This record gives sequence, C-alpha cells and structure tokens, in this order.
Amino acid sequence: MYSKVNGMGLFGMNAFLVTAEIITQKGQPAFDIVGLGDLAVQESRTRVKGALAQIGIGISAQRITVNLAPADVKKCGSLYDFTIIAAVLKVNDFIDEDTDDAAFIGEVSLGGELIHTSGILTMAIAAKRAGLKRIFVPFDDAREASVVEGLTVYPVKNIRSLLNHFTGREKITPAPPYAHLGIKPTLLDFEDVKGQQSAKRALEVAAAGFHNVLLIGPPGTGKSMISKRLPSILPPMSFDESIETTGIHSIAGTLDRENPIINTRPFRAVSHTASAIGLIGGGSVPKPGEISLAHNGVLFLDELPEFDRKTLETLRQPLEDGVITISRAQGSVTYPCDIMMVAAMNPCPCGNYGNPKAHCSCSPQAIQKYLSKISRPILDRIDIQVEMPQLSYEEVSNSSKGEPSKEILARVMEARKIQEKRFAGTDVRANSKIPPSLLAEMCPLEPAAKKLLSDCFDKLGLSARAYDRLLKVGRTCADLAGSEVIRKTDIANAIAFRSLDRKYWNI
Ligand SMILES: [Zn+2]
Repeated sequence: MYSKVNGMGLFGMNAFLVTAEIITQKGQPAFDIVGLGDLAVQESRTRVKGALAQIGIGISAQRITVNLAPADVKKCGSLYDFTIIAAVLKVNDFIDEDTDDAAFIGEVSLGGELIHTSGILTMAIAAKRAGLKRIFVPFDDAREASVVEGLTVYPVKNIRSLLNHFTGREKITPAPPYAHLGIKPTLLDFEDVKGQQSAKRALEVAAAGFHNVLLIGPPGTGKSMISKRLPSILPPMSFDESIETTGIHSIAGTLDRENPIINTRPFRAVSHTASAIGLIGGGSVPKPGEISLAHNGVLFLDELPEFDRKTLETLRQPLEDGVITISRAQGSVTYPCDIMMVAAMNPCPCGNYGNPKAHCSCSPQAIQKYLSKISRPILDRIDIQVEMPQLSYEEVSNSSKGEPSKEILARVMEARKIQEKRFAGTDVRANSKIPPSLLAEMCPLEPAAKKLLSDCFDKLGLSARAYDRLLKVGRTCADLAGSEVIRKTDIANAIAFRSLDRKYWNI
C-alpha cells in the first residue's frame, strides 16, 4: 500500500514543503524513515509508535517505510512527527479523504499530544505559497498561523482529535481569522526626561532616519532612561514589518502565546555579558540572536566598552548589510537584522572625564584603553553621537514636563512620509540605508552646504564612509525641516553629531 501526505520543513527562516511518502509491504515487521533525517527524526519513530498506541493503533506488526522528500534537504528537529503520523493514518485508511491541499505540521509527545512548535508562522506562509489550502497545527500555535489569509488553520490538541476529525466523529473547528487583541504596550514617554535637549533632538533625528546612535555621559545622566523612550517616537510597524519580525520571534520561541503577532517595534536591551551567539545568533541549528530579534526596531547596548571586543566586532557586517548569515555544518542560515543600534557609555572608567563638576581619577592611558575598546569601524557605523552632561540644579529641580512623545512622533512621521515617497519602488526603507549609488541623486546639496562639507572633508580628514554618513544624517535633518535640498545648517548639524569622534577618539 502506498500513500503520501504533506508537511512543512524549516531551516533558519527558510520554510519548505515536505512530502512524507509511505509504503506498507508484506514481510518482516519494520519501521524505517529515510530522507536525510537527523537523530531527532530517527527518534520520532519512538514518539510516533507511542502516540499511535495511545489511540489503540498498533503498527508493530507492519513493515513500514517512510520517505521524507525532498531527500537532499537536511531535516532537523522533531518537526516531522505529526506529518509521519498523518501518513501512517492515511496508509491505514483512517484518513480516507484527499489531503493533497493540506499539511500536517508539529511535534507530538509520546502520549499523542501536539506540542508547541517554533516557526509556525514562517511555515504557514510557505504553505500558502506552495498552494496549500489547509494546515493542521498544534492547538497552541493556531493563533499564530491564523494571521495568514486564505489558509484554513485547524488547531489540533492530540492525535485522537485528529482521528475524530477525519472519521467524522467530531470535526475540528478551524481557528478564526486573526484579530489583534488590541493590547497596546504602555510606552515610556519623553515628557519625563528633564533637560538633555541635544540628546532628545539626536534621538528624534535618529528615529526619523533610522540612524545608529551613541550616547556618552557620566553615570546617572539618564542615558538608558532616554533610550528606553525611543519606541514612543518610532513610526508604527507596517504589516509586512510586523510579519517579518514575528517570523523571527516565532523561530526563536519568544512569542507571547496569547498575543503572538508583534506589532510594536522591538526594543532589545542587551547586557555586556552577552555572548557572540546570544548577540548575533548561533547554535548547531542556528537560532536568531538579539540583533535579529530587534529586527525593525532597536538594539540597545548599554556600557558599550564593557562588551567583549570580539563580540562587538561581529556586529560590523550585519550592521552594514541588515542581514546576518550564520554558517554551520548543517548549512548556512540567514536572518534579517535591519536595526537601529543605540549604544550608551561612560566617557572613562570612572565616568567623570570631561565633567566640569567632578574629578576624573583615570590616567590618560586608562581612558585611552577604555575608549579603544570601540574600534574605528564600529564607530564609523554610528551616525549620531551625543554627549549627555550632568544636569544643573535648575534642570533637576524643574518640575515642568518636557515635550511629550506624541509631538515628537508627529515630526518623525512627517519626515518618514517624505522618505516613503523618495524610496517608492526601491527596497530602501530609511535615509540611513541609502546605498552609495543613490546618494548623489537623493541628497542634493545647496552650494553653501556643499562648501561646508568639502571644507570639513579636507580639514577633518574624513573617510569616504564618514562622508556618506554625514550626507545621510544631513538628509534626515532636512526632511525634518521639510526641505528638499540639504541646507548648510543640516550639514552643520550632522557634523556636530560627529564631534565626539574628535573629542574622545582624536579623529
Ligand atoms: Zn575617569
């Protein structure tokens, strides 16, 4: 007897259709699974037998061969249990309807329960693309899959309920189309931030053009407090952005089961004790790291010089490319990581360097060593640097509120609208990502701005990359002011945002 059912496979962000072909023959009882399965696929034989035994189906007298196709794609994890069980049920006529338009996806426990499986959203999207109409998934993951329109999602609690569905004893009700619960996280507001006008302005420019930012200042000046308020001035996520970011969290297993679709930009604060794998991703079947979990949002690195230098260096390529590729024996995996990096640091080990109101006890060598942990290439990738000084008594004791986030957001949104028009028909999303080939066309300068830029280029000895970055930040400043050409004042602002290079790093 021969039969086949569909499942879905997943490697990194790459989901693909898998077909389980099954054949039962006369002869010595056996249960073989072929098709490049890893150890977990072999172990799945035990789980499959156990799960079927729970509903009174014994297969130990049968000679069964299952082929997971395509055979040339490595299949990892216990994702194929459900597909194999469905194949066994089908070849034994427990499922006698046509299931060519369906896929069975998920991990099954020894007791026959379907258990939470990572990456369901990505697989559901791929299932629809492959032309399937129905998917059967673990009950817990059905809400996540139901966001995909045009796909009927069946939430399956256990193998018995699947059997009841196909024998007509009790049909499984499909999951309703996804409706967001409407829970909006409470975002921290900029009105709580006292003083620090230039830092606020810097974050506004950063939010408008999706630029990377470095905040430098003594401890207690509110570097992380102000950074945490950044999500309140970032534009809402588009549906596509939301699906991309949710897909990554689905694979990492970090979704909220009740509210599984991420529709506010992530803010991922990473501690300096994070490993390179934690930060950029890894593992034998590579999982996304913090940089990908922050995709379309903010990656916040506090106390930047405390990070392991090698770990920091791993960020160079992904910051440039917006994707990270992790290579392993199993194959290489690419995850998106289009992020805005916000980093904070003290100016020296004691924190008081450059502070007129306190004494810095660090030797010049100690300061140099501390600052040199941030390499030139990393610094080059940070468009905006801003100093956050100790507040004066007047500022601290002032009880009036600062400008609320919603007013700043309104300006950011105007600047984003201009960018949307500019980038229509390209895959560029923000000023910070304008490729070199489009810079001249998209960043026209008024003559005085051009002169200022060329003067600076000679005087400051700018690298080509630094020059490009000044243009992009100038572009965002001009957008915020509603100006089509980049004015001298926009370039002056952009240069001011790089002045810490010279103050602290002498470059
Ligand atoms: Zn110091």
